[in-house]
Amino acid sequence: MTALRSIEELVLPTALTPSPTLVDVVDRTIAPSAAEVDRTGAFPRADLDALAGAGVLGLLSSTDVGGAGGSLADVAATVERIARADASVAMVVLMHYAAVSVIEAHGPDDVRRAVAAGEHLSTLAFSERGSRSHFWAPVSTATAADGRVRLDAAKSWVTSAGEADSYVWSSRPVTADGPMTMWLVPAGTPGVEVAGEFDGFGLRGNASRPMAADGALVDTSARLGDDGAGLDIALGSVLPTFLVGNAAVSLGLMEALLDEAAAHLTSARLEHLGQSLAEQPTSRLAFAALRTRVDVTRAFLTDTLAALGYGRDDATLRVLQVKAVAAEAAAEVADGVMRLCGGAAFRKELGIERRYRDALAARVMAPTTEALHDFVGRATLGLPLFGGA
Ligand SMILES: Cc1cc2nc3c(=O)[nH]c(=O)nc-3n(C[C@H](O)[C@H](O)[C@H](O)COP(=O)(O)OP(=O)(O)OC[C@H]3O[C@@H](n4cnc5c(N)ncnc54)[C@H](O)[C@@H]3O)c2cc1C
Repeated sequence: MTALRSIEELVLPTALTPSPTLVDVVDRTIAPSAAEVDRTGAFPRADLDALAGAGVLGLLSSTDVGGAGGSLADVAATVERIARADASVAMVVLMHYAAVSVIEAHGPDDVRRAVAAGEHLSTLAFSERGSRSHFWAPVSTATAADGRVRLDAAKSWVTSAGEADSYVWSSRPVTADGPMTMWLVPAGTPGVEVAGEFDGFGLRGNASRPMAADGALVDTSARLGDDGAGLDIALGSVLPTFLVGNAAVSLGLMEALLDEAAAHLTSARLEHLGQSLAEQPTSRLAFAALRTRVDVTRAFLTDTLAALGYGRDDATLRVLQVKAVAAEAAAEVADGVMRLCGGAAFRKELGIERRYRDALAARVMAPTTEALHDFVGRATLGLPLFGGA
């Protein structure tokens, strides 16, 4: 698991309060451009620059290299706050944090320092055309080539493709046993290319495009951890960071949806009755059910952070559960808010349909809800996480 700073920081509510600088960037830069980012599908470079300037990209970096030494609770608070305004931007930042969790442990100092200084954006290149969402079983290859390593791959989805400064990249091992080896592939490596466009249903502004490696050569020093150790590294650092962070993105989306719903219900009027929509009992009941679902999800995320912070026996189980709990809640809350706000939500101006589309991504991002349920079943029935039927 990722090294965590202190139990107090994880469990005290103050640890879940985003910094004033972040709130300022979100309110002044990210929120005003969110609808346009969604409409055009453009990569939100100005938002990323503002976040870098606010120290957000260096949040997980160690203080030894000039970073903020943040915890998973800080990651959760940060991406939730960003996702309330624009989940596309939050996903770019979350993929960066997931990559940084590996770079911090196994990457070179110059890259770690650049990340800490907000001068380097990274991301994950795990999913492949061949093994699809089964990120634990890459089929792409890494082969020894005259003292260097040759990468060949068809990566199906890479957030920030063509925009990041590096890619934390999975492949089959060079010679070792084991399912996976990880590499840090610098942007601009000859033979590594963006291999298509991204015109998504939701999370449209994050350049989640396919990438290809065709005989790309990297130095042997680009390896992150031992040959064959990639899955253990992924399970130990990438997965907790991504699963907790993804749950927080879903929470941010749900909070935004409830804010939009509350604003609409209290302002939209039925003039013939002299009442607002909020004064209709069925609307209130529906809103209360949605509010409670979001609060239950937040309680689950808080408990997951506490389990990690205290090193509780159920910490791994909570981590495996939390993304699916939040992803399914987000999809259902988004659908509920669309219904609750009626035809008004069907148009773009309330911002609800954008959040609805964005909210559906979490359940299909690997590990998908189905894969996580399978892991939880295996973990609680005494079976190995991988292998067998
Ligand atoms: C917006 C967005 C950004 C992304 N960014 C990245 C990124 O930065 N890096 C990255 O590596 N990937 C990324 N992905 C890819 C993501 O993690 C998944 O790999 C991808 O969404 C899987 O899509 P697929 O069509 O290949 O799914 P498939 O693997 O084809 O799955 C289709 C369905 O079948 C189910 N399924 C598959 N296998 C089983 C099984 N054995 N048992 C039961 N059900 C099963 C799945 O749960 C899913 O519901 C991103 C995806 C999205 C949507």
